[in-house]
This record gives sequence, structure tokens and C-alpha cells, in this order.
Amino acid sequence: MTASPAEPHPVRLSPPAEAAPLPPVALYVHVPFCVSLCPYCDFVVYAGSAARGPAARLDAFVEALLSELRLRADAADATFGRPGIAGRPPLETLYLGGGTPTLLPTSSLAAILALVRERYGIADGAEVTIESNPGPDERGDARGLVDAGINRLSLGAQSFEPALLRRLGRRHRPEDVADAVAEARSAGIGSISLDLLYDVPGQDEAAWDRTLGAAISLDVDHVSAYALTLDDPDAEGLTGPLGDHLATRAGARRWRVAAVRDQDEDTAAAQYANAVRRLGAAGFRGYEISNWGRPGHESRHNLVYWHRRPYEAVGPGAHAFDGSTRRWNAARLDGYLRALAPGGGSPPALPPGASETPDAATAAAEAVILALRLDTGVPLAGAAAGPLAPHLEWALGSGLLERVHGPGDEHDHDPGDERVRLTTSGRLLSNELFARLV
Ligand code: SF4
Repeated sequence: MTASPAEPHPVRLSPPAEAAPLPPVALYVHVPFCVSLCPYCDFVVYAGSAARGPAARLDAFVEALLSELRLRADAADATFGRPGIAGRPPLETLYLGGGTPTLLPTSSLAAILALVRERYGIADGAEVTIESNPGPDERGDARGLVDAGINRLSLGAQSFEPALLRRLGRRHRPEDVADAVAEARSAGIGSISLDLLYDVPGQDEAAWDRTLGAAISLDVDHVSAYALTLDDPDAEGLTGPLGDHLATRAGARRWRVAAVRDQDEDTAAAQYANAVRRLGAAGFRGYEISNWGRPGHESRHNLVYWHRRPYEAVGPGAHAFDGSTRRWNAARLDGYLRALAPGGGSPPALPPGASETPDAATAAAEAVILALRLDTGVPLAGAAAGPLAPHLEWALGSGLLERVHGPGDEHDHDPGDERVRLTTSGRLLSNELFARLV
């Protein structure tokens, strides 16, 4: 799909806030294990015997992860002081993602949360999320999760169509999603999110509509709906020794080549529009391109990313950001374990990885792109037009952006109430606009 340019509308953007290293307000913990690998998966995941059985590497990983948490906490203490003092707030959010973090024993999850609480601080009322898969042998013990301090669950439902789940390589059945939601509710997890996939090969509009209806009928608090993307991390140069992705396996590569042939742009657009309609009608606010939440259930952790606020991250392939520099751990588990759990009496060291600091113009563009993902959009202001203004004017003229009035949110640097945000067409074509902005 393409958008046609039209008459420009004048846009003026306020200048970006000065970037400086800041203490983290959020922490991401990556747990890189799944029972089996889905062929479309681009996350850092080890499956099969690494995840289960006598050769499983979970215990070694947890030991290494705890070491990384301590080392990163030491560094934060040295730079910002200990949590709880002025200028070093406790964490507002903690997110255990993967992979399937609920494959870890509850005692390990409790140990991770206890260490985070001790060394980083967790604010009263903080959002503490764990990702899980719905299968009975993957979703963990909901009561144990609550006892460990988890208060939000993100379930990888993906589809409610058995044939599509099989095609996607998923292990669970549609009814497992309902069971997982019921268990989580009865254990006292106060916020539940479902991940759904559209633009899946073989998924016609009726199948997607049934999946949306099934998700809505479970009365969850949040839905993430993502188009199935089949990018090639190898071709993008992300899989080297310091890369944040693992190489794609040959079988998965063949699956993706076949799947791409079955994807259809117009069907994907219609499916997205249906999600906007149905989730909106069911009382969800589409607060981000791919995310819908009931009031008060928006993902506070992901909002930290979209507001470009500082976050720490641990685990293979995890990305952190301190307000100016982005740092990541290399994806490979062997190097991670060698550095952090070396054995033989050697002290642990930080794992291999890399970092980059965008220049001011790139940082400003990133901030606008991230903010435009949200329905609060970006503020207009009385400052002189910046370098991005012509592109935003083009997007306004093309119907990809619209002007709205109203306050943004507490993290805006501009108090003005005139804003621009993506229209539904703009959300569908956001990549085209974002490519112009960088
Ligand atoms: S369950 Fe999720 S994280 Fe695990 S392999 Fe499948 S897509 Fe990847």
C-alpha cells in the first residue's frame, strides 16, 4: 500500500529534551528457553534439550543471570547511588520475557525477584510482568507466580484456530488459553494480556475475526496484535558474535520462504482494521499501534520504551538504554555463561555485547518515531520548524497523521495541547513514514 502526497500542513515541533545518562526506571529480564522453537521466531531462544531434561541449562542460566543482575546493580550504584536515595528511584516496572520464563522453577523466579527488589528497588504498585505460553506444561504455577511478586501475565495465545496454531509450530490448543486465563485470575493476577498474530499464512478474515472474538470473550485486560513478520536477521547482520540475534536454522528459513508467499498485504490491512474496530467496540483503547488496553491496563513497561525513558536489561540478547546510550548483550548463551558463571573460582564478568550512542538528530528522530506509535502522538509547539517538520507535513497532507487537541501524558516535555498522531491508515503505513524520519 502507498500513500499519495497532498498539500502540506504547517507543523512545528518542540526541540528534543537534552539526553543524559539516567538511572533505570524499568528492568527487562530475558529468559532464553522454550520447549520447542516456532519457525517464525526471531527472539533469542534455546529449545529442546537445553530447556528440558538432564542436559537442561536452566540452572546454569539462573546462576549467570543472578551474577549479571549483581554486576549491573554494582555499576548503577557506583554511577547513581543506591536505590531509594534522591535521584535513584526504585523500578516502576519489571518484565520477565523470553522465551518462556515460566519454564524456570518458581523458586528461581522468586530468587530473581528478591534480588531485583534488594538491589534495584521495586516501587509500591510497580507493574511486574511475566510472559508465558498457554500450554499446561509451559505456563507454570499461577499461585507460585503471584507469591513471587508477579502481578501481570502476558500470554502467547497467537490464534484460536487449531490449524493455524499447528502451522505456526505452537504447542498449545485454543482451550489452553481459556484455562490459563482462568488459572491466572483465580490465583489473583490482576492484569492479563494476550498476544495475537495476524497476516498468518492460511488465516482468512473470518478466522481472524473468530480469534478476535475469542480473545474478547475471555475478558482479558490487554491485547497485543502483531502482523507476522518474517525478516531475516542473518541478512540484516544481527547474528555475529556480538549480535543480539541467533542465526536462523535451515528448517525455519525454508518455512519462512514458503510462508511469505502466502502473506497478503491487503488481507493484513483488513485484519488490522478489524482489530481496531472490534477491540475498540469492546472497550479497549488502542493506545499504541499494536496494543490495546482497558483503562489502567496499558503496559507500563512498554510505555517506558515508547517514551524513551531509561531501562536496564539482563540476559542473552537483552537491550538496555540509559537515556543516551543503547547497550546490548550478545545473543549466544555459551558466551553469556562463560563470562558470568566461569567456574574454577574465577570471578564473574559482564557478558560480551556492544553499545551505540545515537547523535542528537538521530535521537530526536527516534523520540518522535516512538511517540508517534502512541495514540497521544507528539506535541506541536511554537518553536521554529525542525528538520522532521516537512515529513510530518507530508504525512498530515497524506492522511497518515491527524491533528488533535488534548494533553499528552506525564512524560511529555511540552505542555502544549495541540498534537499530531497517526490515523488508522497512518498506523498501517507507519513504516513508510518512519523511514522518512530517520
Ligand atoms: S513460544 Fe514464543 S519465544 Fe518461544 S519459540 Fe515460539 S515464538 Fe519464540
